[in-house]
Amino acid sequence: MHPRFKERELCIWKKRSEYLKLLGFASYGAYLKSELWNSIRQRVFERDGGKCRLCGKVASQVHHTTYDYETLGGYKLDKMYSSCAGCHRHVSIKPNGKRRNFFQTLGITELRLRRQTYDNDSLLERMFFETGE
Ligand SMILES: [Zn+2]
Repeated sequence: MHPRFKERELCIWKKRSEYLKLLGFASYGAYLKSELWNSIRQRVFERDGGKCRLCGKVASQVHHTTYDYETLGGYKLDKMYSSCAGCHRHVSIKPNGKRRNFFQTLGITELRLRRQTYDNDSLLERMFFETGE
């Protein structure tokens, strides 16, 4: 990874732990076990109808594409996506088992989300032609 990206990624994790401290958590692990995270998770699942945003299967996990204060505190949900275990693993782990860096994960997520949007668009188009409206 380019040193500048490495530095930026380090900054993301540093900020994450700073924000978590502000929210009263000693670590990300402690946060994931909290009532706050549990309620955020439920709200994300509800918003997405319990389905993986990346493939449409039943969701069991929530994927973050940012770790800013508003997201961690549950003040905004738009950078969290319900996902199945398979998609979550695919976006965050390389085929060789190593973790992808934050930016690779972000890129793959965006690609998949975009593909979903195109699929929805073509679905809308088909509905349009079939109903003739
Ligand atoms: Zn999925």
